Amino acid sequence: MEQKARTSRRNPRVVVITSGKGGVGKTTTTANVGLSLARLGFSVVTVDADVGLRNLDLLLGLENRVNYTLVEVMNGDCRLDQALVRDKRWSNFELLCISKPRSKLPLGFGGKALVWLVESLKSRQEGCPDFILIDCPAGIDAGFITAITPANEAVLVTTPDITSLRDADRVVGLLECDGIRDIKMIVNRVRTDMIKGEDMMSVLDVQEMLGLALLGVIPEDTEVIRSTNRGYPLVLNKPPTLAGLAFEQAAWRLVEQDSMKAVMMEEEPKKRGFFSFFGG
Ligand code: ADP
Ligand code: MG
Repeated sequence: MEQKARTSRRNPRVVVITSGKGGVGKTTTTANVGLSLARLGFSVVTVDADVGLRNLDLLLGLENRVNYTLVEVMNGDCRLDQALVRDKRWSNFELLCISKPRSKLPLGFGGKALVWLVESLKSRQEGCPDFILIDCPAGIDAGFITAITPANEAVLVTTPDITSLRDADRVVGLLECDGIRDIKMIVNRVRTDMIKGEDMMSVLDVQEMLGLALLGVIPEDTEVIRSTNRGYPLVLNKPPTLAGLAFEQAAWRLVEQDSMKAVMMEEEPKKRGFFSFFGG
């Protein structure tokens, strides 16, 4: 794919990918939006801030290359560039894990470590990245606070079900309290067949409930699970898949600071005359 001409920027866009509820697609979004941005020519650093259930490395197929994490950098055991794992397919894409599953940063210290990380990336020799994407852990405890601390924008991932929406609403409140006003949402695992049968909330309903700008709508797609298990991100699939294309479009909108409109789902065409709408 064509590399977009880039002017070196001094401030990266630091975006946290969050949700509240686990298993709704944060890591999938981070991997696929991140790689889409890299393919558009932006330099991207993804940060796996999910210390307990680290799996961004697996989704990206980079798990064998993570030797050091931010904890080792903080402890002086290695340099930052040694902890950054550069993708072999897209050299402008890097991954950093905060810690190994059992070696946590001291409680309350994580946020400062991430602020340090962003500052270090800004001033590094090879240039400041265009995007830093932070894959947030589930829940709203210390790990969540760590992940949102350096962010100035958020992408909220939700599925169209009531438990995910309740958590999302809570998270929006917390993000706003933290001063993050630029919050866009991705509605994931959408099934048009279920929405039509009124067994699933529509994207329009979700948007009305959360009142956020819509960055993307990702369909439920078995290819997502297949790509997760293969460690080969969806957006690299050839031929493209529906969910992969939806993630690519979301990445574009993120670049353009754009959003999309949710539309009312068309009902099955009924054999009714025009005047029947008016009770005729
Ligand atoms: P989180 O990071 O929020 O915990 P993940 O990104 O790890 O969530 O996704 C959880 C599971 O859901 C994974 O097994 C993933 O393959 C699956 N999944 C995510 N999005 C979709 C989708 N659009 N269609 C089908 N499966 C999906
Ligand atoms: Mg995750």
